[in-house]
This record gives sequence, C-alpha cells and structure tokens, in this order.
Amino acid sequence: MDKTYCHYHPAQPATWHCAPCARHFGDCCMPRNADAPDEQPSCPLCRAALTYLGAANRAQPFWERIPRFFLYGLQAAPLQLAALVALVSLFMPSGFMATMALLVVLISLTSKYLEAVIEHASLALAEAPSLSAAFGSGRFSLFFQLLGLVLLSAGLMWLAADFHSEAIFMITALLIQLVLPAIIIRLVLDKSLLAALNPDAIGAVIKAMGWRYLILWVFCFMLWSLPDSVTYLLAHGLPRVVLMPVATFLFVYSLVVMSAMLGYAVFQYQGALGFAAAAEDEHAGFPEPEYRKRRALAEAEIRLKEGQAGQALEVLGKALDRDANDLRLNERYHQLLFAMQSRERCLRHLAHYLPLAARQNPAQAATAMLNARQLQGDYLPEDALVCEKVAEALLARHKTREGLSLLRNFHQRFPDYPHVPRAYLLAARGFAEGLGQLEPAQKLLGFIRSRYPGSPLLDEVEALEAVISRLAAN
Ligand SMILES: [Zn+2]
Ligand SMILES: [Zn+2]
Repeated sequence: MDKTYCHYHPAQPATWHCAPCARHFGDCCMPRNADAPDEQPSCPLCRAALTYLGAANRAQPFWERIPRFFLYGLQAAPLQLAALVALVSLFMPSGFMATMALLVVLISLTSKYLEAVIEHASLALAEAPSLSAAFGSGRFSLFFQLLGLVLLSAGLMWLAADFHSEAIFMITALLIQLVLPAIIIRLVLDKSLLAALNPDAIGAVIKAMGWRYLILWVFCFMLWSLPDSVTYLLAHGLPRVVLMPVATFLFVYSLVVMSAMLGYAVFQYQGALGFAAAAEDEHAGFPEPEYRKRRALAEAEIRLKEGQAGQALEVLGKALDRDANDLRLNERYHQLLFAMQSRERCLRHLAHYLPLAARQNPAQAATAMLNARQLQGDYLPEDALVCEKVAEALLARHKTREGLSLLRNFHQRFPDYPHVPRAYLLAARGFAEGLGQLEPAQKLLGFIRSRYPGSPLLDEVEALEAVISRLAAN
C-alpha cells in the first residue's frame, strides 16, 4: 500500500483528506482541540469536513499479511520452543501429580512466550522474541489468569447445560469462542483478568475492528483446529509415540502464528484501542486558545504555500484580534507584511510588535528593527526602554552602527527616562568595543560622571574607563 504524506509537509504522514480540494493533511496542519476532542476538523481551504485516514496510512491491514504470520512462526526461537515442548511431551511421567506439575510448567512457559509474541507483534516487530521470554523472569500470574479464564468458560458452559436446551448450549459456546480473541488481546494489554473480562473493554476491541474482527476470529479458529486436523489425517498408520510430539509441535506453532496475528491487529488498530500511549499524547490536542492559535498559524502557512498571501494575512489578522499580544502570531504577521513589502501596514504593525518582541525576545525584536530600517531609513521606536533593549540585541549581533543609532541623544529624546546612564554606558561599550572609537566612548562616560554623579553604575563606568585608557596607551 502506498503511503500518503501531508501536501505541505512531505515528511509527515497524512491523517486527513479533503476530497473537493484533493489535498492531504498531516497532524502538522491539523492541531486538535482538547476542549472539543470529537470536533470534526474542516478543510482550511474550503471548510468542507475532512475524511479521517487514521493509521490506514501507516499500517498494512492484518488480513493482507496472513502468509507473514505463518512465516513468523518458522523463526528459530518459536521452532525451538515447539520442539522442546514436543520433546518433553514424549516423556510424560506416569503419576497424576507429576504429570500435572509438568503440564503447569509447559503451559506457563508457552503462555509467557506467546504473550511476548503478542507484545512484539503489536509494535510491528518482524523478529520473534528470543526464548528468554519464556524462561526469563516474566510474570507468572499469566498462568493463573489463563486458568481462571478456562474455569470461567467451563462454569458458563456448565450453567448453560443446565437449561437442557441444545440451542442455548451451542449459543453460549459460540459466544465464548467469539469473545476469546478480544479477551486475550485485553489480557496482554491490561495485564489483568478482571480488566480483560470487562464487557466495555471487550466491546471496545470488537468495535475498533468492526466486522474485520470476524476475519480475525475465523483465522484464530482455523489455526486452533489445524493441529487436530493434521493429526487426524496422520492418525492412520503412525504410532502414538510419533503422533503425540507432532501434534504438540503443531499446536505450539499455530499458537505462535495466532499470537503474531493478534499482536499485529493491535498494532493496526492501536489508535482505536488506546494502545499507542506515546503517540496518543502527541495528538491529545491543545486547550482551546492554544488550539485556535496553532490552527491559525497552520492555516496561514497553508494559504501562503497555496500562493494566497492575502488570505494568510486575513487569517493571522483575525487571530490577532482575539490574541493581540501573542508573540508568535505577531512575528508571522510581521514577516508576511514585510515579505509583501506592504510598507504602511508593516510600519503601523511594528509600533505594536516591536515593544512586544523587545520585552519577550529582544533578538527577534532586533530582526524586526532591521526590517523596519529597510522600509524607513530613520525608523526609531518611540519608547526609551524598547530602544535600549533593541540596541543591546543589535550590539550583541555586531550590528553596532544600527544599535548605536537607537541610543543617540538619549537624554534629549527622553529627558524623564531614569536609565539614561545605563543607555550611555551601553553606547560607550558599542563605540569602544564594536567600532574601536575611543573618543566618543570617553565623552559618553564623562557625561555620565558629570550629569549623574549619584549613579550606581559609576563602578562600571570606572572599569570601562580603565579599559579604554589601556587601549589608548597601546
Ligand atoms: Zn502539514
Ligand atoms: Zn477542501
């Protein structure tokens, strides 16, 4: 099956499709709303309801992989286990207790291994688990859970037999058989018999797979009867000493094949089964405000890639009406206006954006400032603190002249600003360290000394003066 990817992000698998627009979207473009998880997303381009693709894009359906499950059982580890169990079955002790004890050991080993097979296959691992899964320190409780399951089924059948009606007996037997694969799947996922017997949990498995659960069931049933049929065919002419291990070997083999198929079905329906814990977190969605913001950003990107810059701007503008002070939205809005060379609108927006960015992310503000200067050569922010912050970020980026231009005549432009000494100290550093111009730096430091004799920055002024005089001496 060919994989489809997001039309706008070629590395992301597609999860949604719009038929009218013939566009695939990945989760990248379709943030989920955690406050309305059942909300059906609509197409960002035409607003039509989208079709959910689910894991269909990631997993091949299990019924197309039946031959692979048979091959799976032919790997070394499952064959060794089948051979071992078959061999031991040849040497069954004669006493009842000893036979029982040996059976418990064999069933326990096999079931532990099968559980590992289901777990491996549910992660779509092609390699069977090693034999250590059977002998390792896995949980022993599985044996008792299976025993409980057998006893419960037997009890139900016994109750059904009490009605003396063949129909009731047959229906009970069929129902038990029908839910068994779902119970096994839940038992492996939940590790608890009580949880596995919960009708809601069983129903969830069957509901997730829909009518395809019947395919799974039919194959399990066929695999279960396979050893019987084969031994029946071989029964004529073969001695019991050969027949017994052959039947046991085949039985273990078909159980491995069955487990591989059950495990893969879990993988294929992981979303619906609530199995993919990590992946689920990823797509759990965002609270309403964050969701709307992400949705707007994604939609603007899609519009832009479709060559609809005007609509992209509109989408971001609406989002900004709701959330005027969001830095990310403002940044995108600014970039778009600048790219469109929409001079007036961009400068108008900068009056709002630049102070915002200067507070939250001065480096970003420095970029916006450089853009502003391209639109208007003498652009200056109106706020003293913004000038200072942006100048500092520009100096750090070695855009010394641009940075210094923001600090020029600070005491005249902002006579009431309490941090003029700090701004001039910054400017003096810019002159001395950025441009190597010692004279203007000394002048600025002298100005601080004479105009602000009580400034707490005088220590730093002195230190910089010392550096400058050393530089001047060289
Ligand atoms: Zn995308
Ligand atoms: Zn559409």
